[in-house]
Amino acid sequence: MMSKLLRVQRIRIRLIMLSTVVAGSALFLAGLAFWAYESILYVQTLERESTTIAQMLADNSVAALTFDDRAAAAEIANTLRAEPRVSIACFFGSRGAILATYRRGAESGECPQNSSLGSKRLTVHHLLIFHPVVLNNDPVGAVFLQIDLAEMYVMWMRYGLISALVLCMATLFAMALSSKLQRMISDPILHLASIASRVSGSGHYSLRAVKTYDDETGQLIDQFNDMMEKINERDTSLKRAQDELEMRVLERTQSLMNEIAERKSVEQSLVNAKLAAEAANAAKSSFLANMSHELRTPLNAILGYGEMLEEDARAAGDTSAESDLQRLLFAGRHLLDLVNDVLDISKIEAGALQLHLQKVHSDEITREVAATVEPLARKNGNRFELKIDGSGFITVDVMKFRQSLLNLLSNACKFTNQGIVSLTVSRTDRENQECLRWEVHDTGIGIPADDIKRLFQPFVQVDSSATRRHGGTGLGLAISERLCKLMGGKITLHSTVGVGSTFTVHMPVAPA
Ligand code: ADP
Repeated sequence: MMSKLLRVQRIRIRLIMLSTVVAGSALFLAGLAFWAYESILYVQTLERESTTIAQMLADNSVAALTFDDRAAAAEIANTLRAEPRVSIACFFGSRGAILATYRRGAESGECPQNSSLGSKRLTVHHLLIFHPVVLNNDPVGAVFLQIDLAEMYVMWMRYGLISALVLCMATLFAMALSSKLQRMISDPILHLASIASRVSGSGHYSLRAVKTYDDETGQLIDQFNDMMEKINERDTSLKRAQDELEMRVLERTQSLMNEIAERKSVEQSLVNAKLAAEAANAAKSSFLANMSHELRTPLNAILGYGEMLEEDARAAGDTSAESDLQRLLFAGRHLLDLVNDVLDISKIEAGALQLHLQKVHSDEITREVAATVEPLARKNGNRFELKIDGSGFITVDVMKFRQSLLNLLSNACKFTNQGIVSLTVSRTDRENQECLRWEVHDTGIGIPADDIKRLFQPFVQVDSSATRRHGGTGLGLAISERLCKLMGGKITLHSTVGVGSTFTVHMPVAPA
């Protein structure tokens, strides 16, 4: 607290000290000059007066010195008692002998042995004067005077004391005066400093300093207030912007939270819908699996009896019954195929299909499939071509893989008339995986681009007269595609309407 006070008050003390030192120094220098002037004046006056006395003595003692009259000389010397500043006076005769001496006190000293005429000398304590005694321009002797300077020193002492007293008084007065007057400078500055420290302590930029004088300190206060005004304005607009920002952040947070809650509820309903759809799908798959299984048993029995009846009719030569029974068997087998397809797709979709993977040479599969397809191709007047550019061992479920290839090849035969159906096998690398590729190509009716993407979905067929003529379920491609996928492979399709189609099965030689 004390040090703070000192710090705050320092400018006041400095101003007081400044004015006091300036006033004191000026006074001291003035006193010094005055003292020097007085001293010089004193010495000059003393010299002049002493020379007059010496002159007077010389004039009076001409006769005594001319005749070496010691008594007359002593009498003249005694007249000096009236001059208290003369401590020694000596009268020298024409031959240089001392004729008379005057001494104010016992300790006043002695006369000099030799007289050096006309000289004046100033020592620390005395003024020494040798004055010639002349008669008709002839020197007849000399007078020596020793003038005491003690009076000058006493004057100096007095002068010094008075000066010191005046200096002290004047300094005190200057101090008192400056302590009053310094407020004109220090008050506005201290006031400004206190306002500045209050502002920095409290952060209230609305505080203002009060202007007392119209001088530079007044200008300083005006500029300070101006600066505070600007800072205050900026502070206020900053606060407003901050408030607005906080408000907006709050609003945005609220809306985000609402959005999140909404999304969560949508997500939840999506999850529920997905679960319901999965449950429905599982129920559908299990229904289809059960149904197709239940259908297959009586259908197999019907086909078995039908074959027996057909054989009997053939043996009895009843051609009409035989052809009826053949139609019935064809329809029954077709129905069995349909039921089998439905069973397959429902098993796949329910994730209940068991694969029996085994390592087999690709040529084995290719040749079996080709042998089955060749007669089918011929039915529509097609030429079947087999091309093996590459082969090798591959790990697949042979039955399912063969089923997939047969699906593609039988479709190619179905939808091509008087054209070419080909099967090309080669080795490739797909996504850094060693693969075997079966390309089923036909020069048939082709598939419209819009239908290509949908065809691999179950029960989807191209709406065309050829499709209507051939019937089918729209399950073959879906089953083939899913089976290949389960074995790590993939089916791609390129087709142009009226030109033909190419279905390609990419199958890794070893499943990942
Ligand atoms: P399905 O043959 O039992 O109808 P698929 O899934 O095997 O079922 O075939 C679906 C449909 O795709 C067919 O009905 C047919 O319209 C079309 N399609 C398949 N293969 C070919 C092809 N090679 N050429 C032309 N259309 C084809």
